[in-house]
Amino acid sequence: MSATAASKRVYDFSEGSRDMRMLLGGKGANVAEMTRLGLPVPGGFTITTRACIDYLSDGHAMPRGLDEEITRHLEALEARTGKRLGDHDDPLLVSVRSGAPESMPGMMDTVLNLGINDDSVEGLARRTHNARFAYDSYRRFIQMFGDVVAGVERKSFEDALSELKAARGVEQDVELGAEDLRGLVETFKAIYRTEKGEDFPQEPRVQLNAAIRAVFESWDNRRARDYRRVHRIPDDLGTAVNVQQMVFGNTGPRSATGVAFTRNNTTGEAGEPFGEFLINAQGEDVVAGIRTPEPLVELRQHLPEAYAQLVRTMTLLEKTYRNMQDVEFTIEDGQLYMLQTRNGMRSAEAMLRIAVDMVDEGLLAPGEAMTSLVAADQVRQLLLPRLDLSASPVVAATGVQASPGAATGIVVFSADEAERQARAGESVILVRDETTPDDFHGMVAAKGILTSRGGKTSHAAIVAVGMGTPAVTGVTELVVDEAAGALTIRDEYTVREGEWITIDGARGTVYVGQLPLLPPDPHNPYLERVLTWADAFRTMKVRTNADTPEDARKAREFGAEGIGLCRTEHMFGGEDRLPHVQAMIMAEDTADLVESLDALRRFQIEDFVGIFEAMEGLPVTIRLLDPPLHEFLPDYTDLRIRMARAEATGIPDPEAATQLPRVERLKEVNPMLGTRGCRLGIEIPDLYRMQVAAVLTAACDVKNRTGVEPIVEIMIPLVGFEDELRWLREHILDVAESVFDEQGTSVEYHVGTMIELPRAALVADEIARQADFFSFGTNDLTQTTLGFSRDDAETKFLGDYLAKGILRSNPFEHVDRAGVGQLVRMASESAREVKPKIKLGVCGEHGGDPDSIHFFGAIGLDYVSCSPYRVQTARIAAAQAALGTRGG
Ligand code: PEP
Ligand code: MG
Repeated sequence: MSATAASKRVYDFSEGSRDMRMLLGGKGANVAEMTRLGLPVPGGFTITTRACIDYLSDGHAMPRGLDEEITRHLEALEARTGKRLGDHDDPLLVSVRSGAPESMPGMMDTVLNLGINDDSVEGLARRTHNARFAYDSYRRFIQMFGDVVAGVERKSFEDALSELKAARGVEQDVELGAEDLRGLVETFKAIYRTEKGEDFPQEPRVQLNAAIRAVFESWDNRRARDYRRVHRIPDDLGTAVNVQQMVFGNTGPRSATGVAFTRNNTTGEAGEPFGEFLINAQGEDVVAGIRTPEPLVELRQHLPEAYAQLVRTMTLLEKTYRNMQDVEFTIEDGQLYMLQTRNGMRSAEAMLRIAVDMVDEGLLAPGEAMTSLVAADQVRQLLLPRLDLSASPVVAATGVQASPGAATGIVVFSADEAERQARAGESVILVRDETTPDDFHGMVAAKGILTSRGGKTSHAAIVAVGMGTPAVTGVTELVVDEAAGALTIRDEYTVREGEWITIDGARGTVYVGQLPLLPPDPHNPYLERVLTWADAFRTMKVRTNADTPEDARKAREFGAEGIGLCRTEHMFGGEDRLPHVQAMIMAEDTADLVESLDALRRFQIEDFVGIFEAMEGLPVTIRLLDPPLHEFLPDYTDLRIRMARAEATGIPDPEAATQLPRVERLKEVNPMLGTRGCRLGIEIPDLYRMQVAAVLTAACDVKNRTGVEPIVEIMIPLVGFEDELRWLREHILDVAESVFDEQGTSVEYHVGTMIELPRAALVADEIARQADFFSFGTNDLTQTTLGFSRDDAETKFLGDYLAKGILRSNPFEHVDRAGVGQLVRMASESAREVKPKIKLGVCGEHGGDPDSIHFFGAIGLDYVSCSPYRVQTARIAAAQAALGTRGG
């Protein structure tokens, strides 16, 4: 790159392309692409993301030379349009919009109508023969500039507008005339002067520079930071700034503005483009959901030529991007202008259908569709609850089907309250007239979102779809009275803050009260197709973590190819078992111990038979007991209280009296690092021997009865030393020999270990000598590597770490690649050096997280194991990992 190219900070739309999104942001790159395609795009230029980063990192000072570059591009734009910014006769007006490399809808700032002042407003009025329009544009500009750039209270302007309407006895803004608006401009300027202590800037370049700075600054506002954290967008990308000639959708009845998707973003159906528009309005009216717009097909009646051109344009864009597009357009006096195009956000159902349809239409191949059109994580949305309609609940109101899924929860009216209540463990439905980007943190916290205004392209709808949160918008019969803490529907229903409400985003319906929800239907034909592709591409197997035959069967329906982790401690907690577990722990002598272990063995055989039968010959990894034994006994403090009470009342409590000394002996300062895992098996060999006998007896039994031989993998938890595993392995081989003798048959079995301690990862080559397989227990490995106790981290300091940017994501959700991941990689490599065929998998929760799965795929693990409901997601993520590493 030449020195000039390296320092170039401003690009004309004609200089960019869609490949330049890191530098020009998504909006800038796509506007450039549309310009290249010869589409009707108003002219303009983009200030790069690099300029934003330089600005933010250099004490918020405008980078040297940027001003001159802007001037050059502005002059070129003026020359091309034949208009000048601030001109007395025919002023150029521009919009100044943010646009980051990753879409962050509505999170950053935008200023429209820039360039109007006391002088140019006259020119605008004369040119358009529309004084009303000119003054309306001016007052909107003061309002937006005041709010976004100068930090003037939005409410001050809104109140002044309401007062004027009341004084004129009108309800709608459009009923105000040119003179009213001229007066309003003066009022707004006075408000600006009072609040800012200076006049509203008249010099257009001053306006422009201030707006550019404000957009740069908005990269770091709270809602943008929150949004980035939730969507895991890096903080150091910066936003570009797009300066573009204004076109007007509000010049009269032959003007309009709207947004549209090339396919239905809820169902994925192709056919007519799908969207909404408003006649005689400005773009922000649609996006902010202030007026409820009309469906796009109606535009054909109003403005047939522009409509036809829009449809053609959208088809071209979809072919170019090979992805469903979401466009913003404006029609000024019958002439169509394209303002923006981007890959559209969509529901999980739409995502799958679009992928399948586009492959069938020959637009792209399955491998490309897998990597560019399918988000593995979103598949879980299909598993969102649905409403149980069997009791025919009464629909209280209907609105727009903004984001699918059903949700029930208590009503809250503010984002802060939503966050507070959700933190306290409540399910909440956030109810607003409309949402704005400032509500984002509450929307994240809510189970569902309900608004009285706005359509499918309102802020509420777009954000909800992106997060997979059910939402119903535009419920016109809903009156939200935040001050009174209640909502009403047609005077028939009143629901107070804290009372229950239910919404169904798939139907757009609202119900008063708490309704039952049904589990989702996993058999979506488009999902089946995508999963068939996934299975063909992926190289990693996907297993499940299951402790019961029901879970095992459910997981197999989702496509699990084995059990990667059966936690046997979950079998010890049942009412019928716990007394025997406690008896075993309390055993005074060998006879007591043998008796309780015998009873437990019978239960365990039953458990394992059920699981082996459900898995029909697929591999099953059974982990021997892991948690510290005190977890099966009553709590120490409770026992102390019972004893104190017994003493005080004189009524004896013999159970507490016998248990207390044992619990006292088992008590540990830090049980997570205490007598647990293989340490238990070494201390009480008969316990593990009992479990191994039960596993192998069950396997022989299933083989004998069904003819299908289970593949058994016996797994030892929390190993850190080769000799721990050697010692236990000998016991296992010994037990196996006697079980097979006794049963008169044998089954294939393997002995392996979890890798959950840094030491185990560091000496993996030694441990591998004793192991047929490793399963990385990344839950514990994360705790022990980071020195974080998960419970303490997640309830105490982790939130703060994330907010302060010290950690980018929760390491218990997404594997910490640099630390934990590094250990997993090293351990895998060194284990394979001594035992090339050793089987390597992951059974921590990261095994169901797409981001982590990509990493595990890249380092060549054989399988991941996850909870049944994440198996489909994991199959897709494993395919994407395989395609990624092949460069696909
Ligand atoms: C692990 O530590 O990753 C694991 C799977 O074991 P558990 O979650 O049961 O501790
Ligand atoms: Mg563990």
